[in-house]
Amino acid sequence: MSDDKVDIFVIGGGINGCGIARDAVGRGYSVFLAEMNDLASGTSSWSTKLIHGGLRYLEFYEFRLVREALMEREVLWAMAPHIIRPLRFILPHHKGLRPAWLLRLGLFLYDHLGGRKLLPPTKTVDLKNGSLGEPLNGDFAKGFEYSDCWVDDARLVVLNARDAAEKGATIATRTKVERLEELEDGWQVTIVDQNSGAKKSIEARLVVNAAGPWVDSILRGPLGKNDARNVRLVQGSHIVVPRLYDHDRCFIFQNSDGRIIFTIPYQGDFTLIGTTDQDYKGDPAEVAITSDEISYLCAAASEYFNTPVEKESVVWTYSGVRPLYDDGADAAHEATRDYVLKTFNGEKGAPLINIFGGKITTYRRLALSVLEKIETAIGAKGATWTERATLPGGGFVELEFDQELRKLQSAYPFLHDKVAYRLFHAYGLDAFKILGDAKSEEDLGRKFGGGLSEAEVRWLMQEEWARNPQDVLWRRSKLGLRLSQEQVDSLSAYIQAAS
Ligand code: FAD
Repeated sequence: MSDDKVDIFVIGGGINGCGIARDAVGRGYSVFLAEMNDLASGTSSWSTKLIHGGLRYLEFYEFRLVREALMEREVLWAMAPHIIRPLRFILPHHKGLRPAWLLRLGLFLYDHLGGRKLLPPTKTVDLKNGSLGEPLNGDFAKGFEYSDCWVDDARLVVLNARDAAEKGATIATRTKVERLEELEDGWQVTIVDQNSGAKKSIEARLVVNAAGPWVDSILRGPLGKNDARNVRLVQGSHIVVPRLYDHDRCFIFQNSDGRIIFTIPYQGDFTLIGTTDQDYKGDPAEVAITSDEISYLCAAASEYFNTPVEKESVVWTYSGVRPLYDDGADAAHEATRDYVLKTFNGEKGAPLINIFGGKITTYRRLALSVLEKIETAIGAKGATWTERATLPGGGFVELEFDQELRKLQSAYPFLHDKVAYRLFHAYGLDAFKILGDAKSEEDLGRKFGGGLSEAEVRWLMQEEWARNPQDVLWRRSKLGLRLSQEQVDSLSAYIQAAS
């Protein structure tokens, strides 16, 4: 089937769109996915980067969501053990806030609701003696340590897109959906190339609207449903500061407003602190951290650490907008994190499946639910298959990350340890393809700084749809934290010349 006529057209190259495209093409449907900017340029690269059950959601009785998410942790870890890593969390007991018995009960449920086989269970930790509590001030004597996972969110999106493309899906980035028109047996989708302005039409039997924060804009704009108001946009921001402590645990701190924040070891030399939760009314593309949010995050962390976190120490910030289903909750942090799928049929019956809400953690399960709706609407093809299928580069046993990394280091002994770790963490077994038969650093071509070589940039351009320095430095990697402006300019010139 040509690109011009497909079974399924997916709008949006975030985690949900790419996860659905991958699942669908793997079952035998023909798929076209359009992303108006870069893959993961929307909410999917602005998350806290946790594959987690969501301990806090237990307080809002979201048992279905928490159970599904808990069960999904180890499924995803096994699918992509290079970009998903287990992480231990320390929850200090704060005398003025939730009582210890409540924390213990929540964590007991968290350990036993389902799916935990390899991740270690909860234990009580002494924060007064020993290194774990060392960075904290003297108010915290006792805490609990439990497991979840960390994910490179933007790379998870790209790997789903790659797998979908390898199975035959068309992934068109910098391609905006401008119009949806109903035909006798489906939809005509008008897309616009964001670089050239060229327009093209694709016919599809079914459309999936996975536009995240723009999901209602698709209904209002390309479809003309002016009254669409399904999502509640909730802004969440993070700050990055130089590494605050030496150990590898994440802290989860309770705040007096009922919210929680995380402090997560980040990119070796940094600590990531987030997140906030506040309603957002503007254009999702324009969201940016406010000075109040920076103050809030610094103050919340400073309540726990023995050295205050100062605004001046912030080296980077980012903000995203959660496209939450509007369930009428009073406070932004109480709005449901669960996903809702709604099929709107056109006047002649053409199916349009809309996705509201969701978590990165549950994207694969969301895709399964969408595929059930697709089967009902246009007929079934292949069986479910994603539960045990690894993502590109992830074909090794999840507990053997260190052994696999050592294999890379012995195959390429000239790599600096930090560079070898970064490459294996980002690309897994594909790191061997990027490095090829290089025998020395010179064989990898030009150096752009931070261990980024010409060989890696070429791979990102050829295999991962990278088109500019932002794509390379902030989504395919976080090397933007390390490169100077001069180095960024040199990378930019290289990409332009090589495009
Ligand atoms: P998006 O990633 O926004 O993708 C939608 C895409 O559609 C965008 O890339 C956009 O460019 C594209 N698009 C829009 N309109 C068009 C058009 N007309 N044509 C073509 N393309 C279009 N989840 C977790 O599991 N763990 C966490 O730790 C976590 N932390 C979070 C912290 C914050 C601050 C936020 C904001 C969210 C967090 N989440 C977390 C939730 C998670 O990030 C989101 O649920 C998820 O990324 C949503 O993905 P999506 O694909 O629906 O949307």
